[in-house]
Amino acid sequence: MSVLTHLLPDSTNLKLENCFLDEIKTQIKLIVSAISRVVNCPVCNQPTHKIHSRYERFLADLPWADYSITLQLRVRKFFCINTECKRRIFTERLTNVTAPWARRTLRLAQRLSAIALANVMVVQQG
Ligand SMILES: [Zn+2]
Repeated sequence: MSVLTHLLPDSTNLKLENCFLDEIKTQIKLIVSAISRVVNCPVCNQPTHKIHSRYERFLADLPWADYSITLQLRVRKFFCINTECKRRIFTERLTNVTAPWARRTLRLAQRLSAIALANVMVVQQG
C-alpha cells in the first residue's frame, strides 16, 4: 500500500483506504479519502473543521501499464462558520488533485492536453 500512496495525485492530502484490481476489465480502483482536518471557505477564506456531510466522486487518473485507474474519492462538505459569509455550506477543494466538477485528475487532463497539442502540431507540420 505504501508504494501506491506515493503514486496518488496528492499524497499529503489524500489517504489510500483500499484498492481493488479487476483483471478482466484491466481496471484498478483506489478508494481514497481527503484528510485535511481544516479547510478554508472558498468565498471568505475562513478556516473550518465543521463537517456537514460526505460524498464520493469518481475520477479517472493516469493509467498504470495496461490498467486504467479510477479514484473513488471520498470528499466532504463543510459549514462556513463565518456568520457574515453568504456561503453556509461548501465542498472542500482539492486543487492539487482535480477541478471542482471534473471527472479526471489534473495530471490526466494535463497529459491528454499535451498529447492533443502534439497531434495538432504534427498535423500542421505534415
Ligand atoms: Zn465563508
